[in-house]
Amino acid sequence: MEEQLRTIGVELLPLRVQKVEWDGKQFHLLTASQTIHCDYLILASGTRPRLLPDRQADKAAQQRIFYQVVDLHQPRQAKIAIIGAGDAAFDYALNLAADNHVEILNRTEVRRCLPLLWERAMRVPTIRYTPNTELLWAEPERNKGLRLTLSCLGEVETRWVDYLLVAIGRDPNLSFLDPTFAQQLAALEVAGRCYRIGDVKNGIFRQTAIAVGDGLKAAMQIYHLVVEVS
Ligand SMILES: Cc1cc2nc3c(=O)[nH]c(=O)nc-3n(C[C@H](O)[C@H](O)[C@H](O)COP(=O)(O)OP(=O)(O)OC[C@H]3O[C@@H](n4cnc5c(N)ncnc54)[C@H](O)[C@@H]3O)c2cc1C
Repeated sequence: MEEQLRTIGVELLPLRVQKVEWDGKQFHLLTASQTIHCDYLILASGTRPRLLPDRQADKAAQQRIFYQVVDLHQPRQAKIAIIGAGDAAFDYALNLAADNHVEILNRTEVRRCLPLLWERAMRVPTIRYTPNTELLWAEPERNKGLRLTLSCLGEVETRWVDYLLVAIGRDPNLSFLDPTFAQQLAALEVAGRCYRIGDVKNGIFRQTAIAVGDGLKAAMQIYHLVVEVS
């Protein structure tokens, strides 16, 4: 995709936008090193994982707690607990189970994953699924990785794992918009100057094809405003 963009002259800047300002005519995107100005703005910043509340984990445990499977860097022969019971939890378990032992901890009996993921996971001997089990506290323990204190139907249980992977949902990633800009956003969208596309606006309907389709639609709308109307 990057190669394709470069061939048509799109500039890719590896910069984190820290703030967006609108002065009535243009957008100003503030980064650590420069400010970028533009007439139209497409927000495609995706989602960010929901974090464990502080009351459930010791600060010192954070280096063994992860929110995306990619950040674990393909561990081997590790014991990994996954919190959650949606698509991401089961997808992560299937990714890790070939080389590790995985336990999925679900605080209720309700699973929110696709039936296909559930069926696949249940065929893998290195995946264990434990419903009605809630994390009370995660803390590091010398030479034993993480100690998890769990509440399982009123009983308190303990697990020792190497890593904890948390997949308890994702929220739109718009934290770089300050309240002033957030208030202007709806009007700018109606005026066709700003667009939200992909996961950042699609709730539970997060799919690559939908994000690409949103992007194409935004591009066509901007083309219409810039070329056809002017
Ligand atoms: C575990 C998992 C499995 C999935 N499996 C599938 C699947 O099998 N099939 C499928 O179709 N979809 C799948 N998806 C969903 C798919 O990944 C998303 O729908 C798609 O990536 C959405 O694209 P996006 O561009 O909206 O957001 P993203 O792909 O999340 O991209 C957002 C981008 O914005 C950047 N960004 C964020 N904030 C800033 C900032 N302040 N400044 C600069 N850049 C910023 C991020 O670095 C990132 O590159 C899966 C998602 C997950 C989490």
